[in-house]
Amino acid sequence: MQIGVLTETAPFERRVALTPESAGRLITAGHSVYVQSGAGLAADEDDDAYRAAGAMIGKNPEEILGNIDLLTAVGQLDQQTAAKLRPGTAVVGLSSPKDGRGPAGVLVDRHASFFALELLPRITRAQSMDALSSQAMVAGYRAGLIAAERLPRFFPLLMTAAGTVPPAKVMVLGAGVAGLQAIATAKRLGAVVEAYDVRAAAAEEIRSLGAKAITLDIESQTSASGGYASEQASDAADRQRKALTPYVAAADVVITTAAVPGRPAPLLVTAQMVEKMRTGSVIVDLAADNPNGGNCEVSRPGEDVRHHGVLVHGGRNMPSQLAAHASRLYGANMSAFVLAICQDGVLVSTPEDIAADEIAAACCVLLKGEFR
Ligand code: NAD
Repeated sequence: MQIGVLTETAPFERRVALTPESAGRLITAGHSVYVQSGAGLAADEDDDAYRAAGAMIGKNPEEILGNIDLLTAVGQLDQQTAAKLRPGTAVVGLSSPKDGRGPAGVLVDRHASFFALELLPRITRAQSMDALSSQAMVAGYRAGLIAAERLPRFFPLLMTAAGTVPPAKVMVLGAGVAGLQAIATAKRLGAVVEAYDVRAAAAEEIRSLGAKAITLDIESQTSASGGYASEQASDAADRQRKALTPYVAAADVVITTAAVPGRPAPLLVTAQMVEKMRTGSVIVDLAADNPNGGNCEVSRPGEDVRHHGVLVHGGRNMPSQLAAHASRLYGANMSAFVLAICQDGVLVSTPEDIAADEIAAACCVLLKGEFR
């Protein structure tokens, strides 16, 4: 199979869909990989590294798109790129066109297929392909570092001749993959960390990292289905915010990472709650670049907003801020996925074959121009 990698075109995107290492894995399995010249540069991967892995380099997107059966991507394709796909090309990426926006119409016209990695089932066999988790881990780590860098105080306890400095109090809201990595990062930097998640099962994971698990005296604690949280009713969300208010007010840093797949991010920290925090405190909202707003009412994606003396950082494509390792992990997920949806070196393409494979069936949103 001929597999392509283009330079990503979405704003603020620095990742690449396959690194030389992951391209090499596909080449070893018998596939050919065509990479647009410079596609990996923002993630510190140059053309020579791809050539050394056995990939071919093309000058422009047209040269790649004219040769491939499958395009690997990170962000949403732009209209122009989608329009240049050879009829019947398959695309694997993180941004499902199923909502009818973006280049969905063009993909349909090109009789393209689309496999959306964010729809991967959370089963043991799919763990090596779990791009949402690998990228959330990167985002959580970055959130911890950004908080430490923005806070005008130390994270660790320091005993000096000039006096003792108490450790920073960090509160992490949402303890999924990103939240747990934010907890681990803040702990490594010496902060005292506590965390809360709506899933009761998260408490044990929080404690295993040496942080304190907060239990709120409300009835909204849920167990998740398939490892994902479900959306709360609005009165439960109100009770949750009320119960969280004293914890947020007492924290030097609040890192919010709460998400509900396929739904808007829950609002956990209102402007009023921010106003109760101490001047100089910091909030990092990982959910800020959600189109419907983040976990904090005053956050703006990619901006540091000052609200009543509190600095609120809105995350914007956090994995891209660590593009080399984010791409390495993403490329490993991508190559594992591509190998999993091939039979005898050819991509599964009949409705029957797709339906027969749990992973392909969950991720295939568009098959030869028809939405499934
Ligand atoms: P996510 O990105 O969908 O959400 C992040 C976290 O926000 C979740 O833990 C969720 O419970 C929490 N959240 C949602 N609404 C909230 C609210 N109102 N208040 C507080 N917290 C709220 O989740 P995720 O990081 O993708 O993972 C969720 C869980 O699934 C984790 O326990 C993770 O370890 C597990 N997981 C399992 C697999 C697997 O293959 N079995 C793979 C990845 C993750």
